[in-house]
Amino acid sequence: MNRPKRIAVLGATGSIGRQTLDIIERYPNRYEAAILAAGRRVDDLIALAQKYRPRQVVIADESLLPKLRSALEPLGIATAAGARALAESVEGDDIDMVLTATVGYSGLEPTVHAIKAGKDIALANKETLVVAGDLVGRLLKGSKTKIYPVDSEHSAIAQCLQGEDISSVERLLITASGGPFRTWPMERMATATAADALRHPNWSMGAKITIDSATMLNKAFEIIEAHHLFGIDPERIEAVVHPQSIIHSMVEFVDGSVKAQLGVPDMHLPIAYALGEKQRLQGASKHLSLADYTTLTFEHPDVERFPSLGLAHYCLAKRGTSACTVNAANEIAVAAFLNDRIKFTDIYRIIEHTLKVASFVAEPDYDDYVAVNSESRAKAEEYIACL
Ligand code: NAD
Ligand code: MG
Repeated sequence: MNRPKRIAVLGATGSIGRQTLDIIERYPNRYEAAILAAGRRVDDLIALAQKYRPRQVVIADESLLPKLRSALEPLGIATAAGARALAESVEGDDIDMVLTATVGYSGLEPTVHAIKAGKDIALANKETLVVAGDLVGRLLKGSKTKIYPVDSEHSAIAQCLQGEDISSVERLLITASGGPFRTWPMERMATATAADALRHPNWSMGAKITIDSATMLNKAFEIIEAHHLFGIDPERIEAVVHPQSIIHSMVEFVDGSVKAQLGVPDMHLPIAYALGEKQRLQGASKHLSLADYTTLTFEHPDVERFPSLGLAHYCLAKRGTSACTVNAANEIAVAAFLNDRIKFTDIYRIIEHTLKVASFVAEPDYDDYVAVNSESRAKAEEYIACL
């Protein structure tokens, strides 16, 4: 391609969205932001549109459309609003790649549209594969879409798998920082505030994924994500706690060899590797100075203190809509925790309870996921009201 690749950046105002725009800005001959989309931070979205001059800007919250329109129409930038418009925006003939970096369940609909339109996807929104990985897998079979993972662990695994035969993989070892409560006893975790949980030791990320890292549900989600991305059986995917976050994940092969990918904890690198379809770009990230990290350590995760971790293998065995329910209950619980409505340790209780009471569909189609997501959210809310 001798013109810049045109990217639809979904979740443009967020942590991954902004780092993606950094990469687009740094390599103007390679990339162009064709669409910017976000949830409801309209002022931030307007400022980004004024800077990056995309063809179209979409906001999920429809009440914010008049403000968006009056700011951007004079610049000749088309505007639209609503979840449906956001999902449909990725289908444009001029779009070469879709970067999905919205939070939570909202990633599913645009991903489905992108696959149906045959667009390549740089996938940051892991919840899409957690909620409906089986459906996404089925849709991919009939599509020319390729998915390039942005999540640092999955980017690491994709890098380790370059030049390898997938049948020679013994295990995937997904590294986890352990989050801010890695060394906290259970009783102390019950008293953790949102500010405590938002203090991630190594990564600066959006609030929701930071809380998921503190419960380690993020790691459970990443095990599910890895299963769907690489087709490796769940029993051959493990989490390893590595507090320094320098090794981003590892692949063990049948001959006993283990390959690891290392780098400073900086999402610019996996974003650039995904946008480049596994091509390496000069200067994408700061370089690692190993002398600054004289000890790299590894621990088994503690499933007693972090019961959410166990949900990965539970959901991958039960399948159907189980992980959709876990994701929905978690989104409600995390929002309640951030608003000081529940204790940190209630997050897991809410998920566990919702799994018991929500409907389960063994072979869901798209509409079943939509229905189970809504029902699970409502059940989680009802339970929170009784806590
Ligand atoms: P963030 O909270 O910083 O940003 C989220 C973005 O999504 C914002 O632009 C927001 O406006 C938009 N958004 C929120 N709700 C929306 C909705 N209903 N419809 C449309 N847009 C909506 O989040 P983040 O940390 O950038 O994470 C984004 C995704 O990337 C998540 O799925 C997360 O798990 C994944 N991820 C993030 C990191 C990281 O380092 N931040 C690493 C790996 C994976
Ligand atoms: Mg990750």
